Amino acid sequence: MHDVVIVGGGTAGCVLASRLTEDPARSVLLLEAGARSRKLEIKIPAAFSRLYRTNVDWGDSTTPQPRLDDREVVFPRGRMLGGSAAMNAMMILRGHRSDYDAWAAAGSTGWGWEDVEPAFARSAQGAFPLGSLPEQHVLAEAFVHAAQAVGIPFTDDLNGESNEGVGFVPVSQRRGRRFSVLDGYLRPARRRPNLTIATDALVTRILVEDGRAVGVAYRLDGEPSEQEARCAGEVVLCAGAIGSPQVLQLSGIGPRDALAPLGIDVVHDAPGVGANLVDHLTNGLLVRTRGVETLASAESLRNLVRWALRGRGPLTSNLGEAVAFVRSQPELDAPDIELLLAPVLFEDEGLTQPTEHGLTLAVVLLLPRSAGTVLVRSADPAELPAIDPRYLSDPDGQDEATLIRGLRLARRVLAQEPLAAFTDGEILPGEDAQSDDELRAHLRALSQTLYHPAGTCRMGSDAGSVVDPELRVRGIERLRVADASVMPTLPRGHTNWPTVMIAERAAGFVAGADA
Ligand SMILES: Cc1cc2nc3c(=O)[nH]c(=O)nc-3n(C[C@H](O)[C@H](O)[C@H](O)COP(=O)(O)OP(=O)(O)OC[C@H]3O[C@@H](n4cnc5c(N)ncnc54)[C@H](O)[C@@H]3O)c2cc1C
Repeated sequence: MHDVVIVGGGTAGCVLASRLTEDPARSVLLLEAGARSRKLEIKIPAAFSRLYRTNVDWGDSTTPQPRLDDREVVFPRGRMLGGSAAMNAMMILRGHRSDYDAWAAAGSTGWGWEDVEPAFARSAQGAFPLGSLPEQHVLAEAFVHAAQAVGIPFTDDLNGESNEGVGFVPVSQRRGRRFSVLDGYLRPARRRPNLTIATDALVTRILVEDGRAVGVAYRLDGEPSEQEARCAGEVVLCAGAIGSPQVLQLSGIGPRDALAPLGIDVVHDAPGVGANLVDHLTNGLLVRTRGVETLASAESLRNLVRWALRGRGPLTSNLGEAVAFVRSQPELDAPDIELLLAPVLFEDEGLTQPTEHGLTLAVVLLLPRSAGTVLVRSADPAELPAIDPRYLSDPDGQDEATLIRGLRLARRVLAQEPLAAFTDGEILPGEDAQSDDELRAHLRALSQTLYHPAGTCRMGSDAGSVVDPELRVRGIERLRVADASVMPTLPRGHTNWPTVMIAERAAGFVAGADA
């Protein structure tokens, strides 16, 4: 019998397990569906996309997306100790002050910028340091100058109150290797006698008795038989924006209309569970380069030795080396698009390794108006849920229009020196594609996820929200959700550091509850 059971050993789970076991009087069980993986590609920054569709990835795709030519978008998420933090692109970008102030204004009381800043600072000063790349690619440097040539100001702090401007991305790396929450938070806590970590443990449902969570059921190593882990305190779901609503729904906590037909006993009718799936959609210009070596030739024995012995060379690149946060229209208060420069052709949603030299200048839609759902397809916990982000589905087409403005801005940046000197023709969509219709066709054919799903267990003060501002699940006692799924809206940045912040705060809420 443990005090707290944590479901999911990803970004949030690692932070929470570490913080909660700082108190030797509290015992914690951390259950993770994936393994403790020693794959080298986890440590080598430039190799992260090599983990897609391997045994450390859940292997999801979205449902066919009507506004994306009915494509099923490749949707990686980590299934291993470390979760998505062990396969992400290591970019540390928390968004804009106004993102958090908007959370508070919409009902997430106590989550404004001034409230969340101390938790961000606590992580950055300790277990989640903001590192920098040992070497900056010449194309990233050229992009930073070219962006300034079109009037985007340089910033040396992409994580300030305003993130507007162009700069080099802080990364979760040390000495050229991935340094994630697994290294910073979980590793130092691993040997504490009050922390038990079980891997290859798929949580199948939450045990609810008299309206209270009393533990979880799980399957070890794919065995069909279930085991139970009971707790004296509470259950905290950290299974991520897809996994957390899935586990809730499997437990009968979710939309009755969707669960009852699947034969799932509805314990608590909560239509918000799995709704409000928001994600950052991205689409890039793929451009041939000349006179420069890109990451297409990074894979060599020589580079592997350089990386292993000295933590240097092209394998230390996280691909997303430099970004610009910009307002696509001057009347906006804060950036609505991000331009992201990768010194390589990022092709086929990351599944194919490039064979020629080129760069990707991606445009990211920061504040999507489109939102979708995550819904279980059956009562079988082993079946992947239906992920339907409904990309570009907002009725007045603003999401698409913003991305089109972004593509045009990206082209203007590419045309500036010193970047222009390295380019040798646009591969996709190709210089012929100039009209809105042609760019729209490109968006539909080639947009992909930037891997930031969130919002599916939305926090708020209204009855329709899934968790309250202390992350307690409405309608069930002793149950919290603490991960990317509680974000009411996406930050205008990336989601990893904000998830660390959420888990830092959740640790305080759990400690307060049992104090
Ligand atoms: C390829 C990729 C690149 C990314 N790049 C960046 C980036 O550069 N910068 C950035 O800020 N963000 C990035 N992200 C996003 C970022 O990593 C996530 O937002 C963050 O990790 C979310 O944390 P989480 O704790 O909510 O979920 P996760 O880290 O995904 O953790 C969830 C954990 O729960 C486990 N789990 C799920 N269901 C169950 C179950 N039923 N039983 C037991 N365990 C379960 C999973 O296996 C996983 O380990 C990227 C993500 C991906 C996939």
